[in-house]
Amino acid sequence: MAVRQNLTSRIKQIVSFNLPCAGFLFAKINTIMAQYKRIITNVFASNTEFLPYIQIAATVLTVLFALIYEQSAMLWLLSILMYVGIGCFGISIGYHRLLTHKSFKTTKFWERFCTLWGVLAFTGSSIGWVGMHRDHHKYSDKPGDPHSPVTRGPGMLLAAYDYTPDKWKIRHLIFDKFHVFIHTWYFGLLLAWLALWLVLGGITTVMHVVIIPAVISVWISTTSNYMNHMWGYRNFTTTDNSRNLWINAIFTFGEGWHNNHHARPGNYDFGSGTSGKWWEFDPAARIIELIRH
Ligand SMILES: [Zn+2]
Ligand SMILES: [Zn+2]
Repeated sequence: MAVRQNLTSRIKQIVSFNLPCAGFLFAKINTIMAQYKRIITNVFASNTEFLPYIQIAATVLTVLFALIYEQSAMLWLLSILMYVGIGCFGISIGYHRLLTHKSFKTTKFWERFCTLWGVLAFTGSSIGWVGMHRDHHKYSDKPGDPHSPVTRGPGMLLAAYDYTPDKWKIRHLIFDKFHVFIHTWYFGLLLAWLALWLVLGGITTVMHVVIIPAVISVWISTTSNYMNHMWGYRNFTTTDNSRNLWINAIFTFGEGWHNNHHARPGNYDFGSGTSGKWWEFDPAARIIELIRH
């Protein structure tokens, strides 16, 4: 009898302790779902169907600009430096190695700094990019991979991936006000950036500071996504078609050591730090060693 009473009181104790916990958990899941719904129903951030037209129009504009306008070597150098900021700090270090793979820790300052460079790449908000890239690893070169050259062919060279992020893959960002702000106002921020340089320096400045770096960045990003899974050699046997290619690694600050990355996605060093091959130099990893803590 005493044993049964003990057991009953113990069960009561457990239930009374766990009910508020279950309620809290339920409320938390509800809040996450509501926030997620707000994010994916943001029509401006999730509609990417028109992006290929912008990509083609901006490319034609850049070629015409290069042929018709009088050229200044300094301004072209500025465009290349802007691309280094976007490609190295924005996409490779910020969006990819820090926000998607959490492969190193750093201060909020560097996280925000790199994210803002990533925004200027014109390839999506941090939340959208992270969701897409996590799916790229999960379904690599199989149906569900947003930009596999194996399943999608050369059509993936145009930057519209018809993509809605999986809520669980972006859960670490959807309560960060900074990233939600960027996602919500993504195209507005890009238009404001464009307008700022138009007012400050006119058409030539807008071309060299905003449009040309974005055109370089978009084409390098899409061709790199293509080459990463088509051309080059493999150090590791992985379930996908990922490859290492030195020329790709030069233009993408180390991202081209892509087979190493797919084999060990948690390593911040995609090059020799993963493969042990000294010639697989990864410049972005050397910068990460200066800013991580
Ligand atoms: Zn890949
Ligand atoms: Zn990755």
